Amino acid sequence: MPQLRLENINKYYGKMHAVRGVTLDVPSGEFVVLVGPSGCGKSTLLRSIAGLEEISAGALTLGERSIANLAPRDRNIAMVFQSYALYPYLNVYENIAFGLRARKVPQADIDKQVRWASDLLHIDEYLERLPRELSGGQRQRVAIGRAIVRDADLFLFDEPLSNLDAKLRDGMREEIKRLHARLGKTFIYVTHDQIEAMTLADRIVLLRDGQIEQSGAPLDLFEQPVNTFVGGFLGAPPMNFVPVTVEGGGATLKLPDGQTIALTSDDDAPGDGSYRWGVRPEHLKQANGAASFNATIEVVQPTGSRTYGSFSLGDANVVAELDARAVDVAGRSLPLSVAVKRTVFFDEQTGNAV
Ligand code: ADP
Repeated sequence: MPQLRLENINKYYGKMHAVRGVTLDVPSGEFVVLVGPSGCGKSTLLRSIAGLEEISAGALTLGERSIANLAPRDRNIAMVFQSYALYPYLNVYENIAFGLRARKVPQADIDKQVRWASDLLHIDEYLERLPRELSGGQRQRVAIGRAIVRDADLFLFDEPLSNLDAKLRDGMREEIKRLHARLGKTFIYVTHDQIEAMTLADRIVLLRDGQIEQSGAPLDLFEQPVNTFVGGFLGAPPMNFVPVTVEGGGATLKLPDGQTIALTSDDDAPGDGSYRWGVRPEHLKQANGAASFNATIEVVQPTGSRTYGSFSLGDANVVAELDARAVDVAGRSLPLSVAVKRTVFFDEQTGNAV
């Protein structure tokens, strides 16, 4: 029995159909990340679970209870927002304690809870400070602290890291993952950032236009995207899409610039026809032996550990993830090999994986 069940959830804002028939089971303790481009309905879905939005149709159950008609405070759900929404005139201690005081929890228990949370989040030194005397990252921790002192059934996070600078975000990501492991509670986390989704989630739910495109373990979505949207959304630099044809009864793959790659049965290529070929930068390597094809590298982008080399295949711009020193200046011709078995062939018309 899943802890949280969303059954055919729909949400309209007037004529705008923001969430379209979303069905999702979340087992107890899972870390689910709702991800997708801006406007895909992820915040609406999260706010519907919290009770901050009324759903237009569908069923929402938490444990044994139907919660769709309960007020937010009766759902036993804790939520952390992107805007920390701290009380500016209360110090850190009182900000964390606020919800407990409102529920008339005895002072001794409040104190225990605040100290436990501030210790866990490394803000125990700042309990006397006001929010304005804290950095963005510290404020976000206070907001998380305020959520976790409640013994909630479910923790919801709405883009909690998007106001932080890149370095702090990386650090907080790791901390949120540790926090999830320590609490052992169900987390539902909204982000538009695919790296955040990949790194945090037990399960990614990728949304587009109010519908689930694909849901599953991060690496399953990454390696086996059901369509070009999913393939293109996850991964940076993104998956390359190259128009190709398979010819000769599955014997050759013809690239848009006329070069051909010999296929074997190990490659798992589809039958003869035209496809959009999904090749991740890491599927391409500098050949050291027989090359699959040759590329003239037009742009060289070293990152330190790897170097991204861009080249053209017909009209398609393709990025290969190469060894750091594989190519030093633009204009070099490089023999490349491709792990065809790891690539994904998409239907030219529908964009669905074949
Ligand atoms: P996301 O969180 O994925 O960026 P949202 O859930 O905020 O997307 O919004 C989904 C869609 O619903 C968007 O097209 C948005 O413009 C629309 N929407 C969100 N909130 C409202 C509202 N209060 N009134 C009307 N339309 C809204």
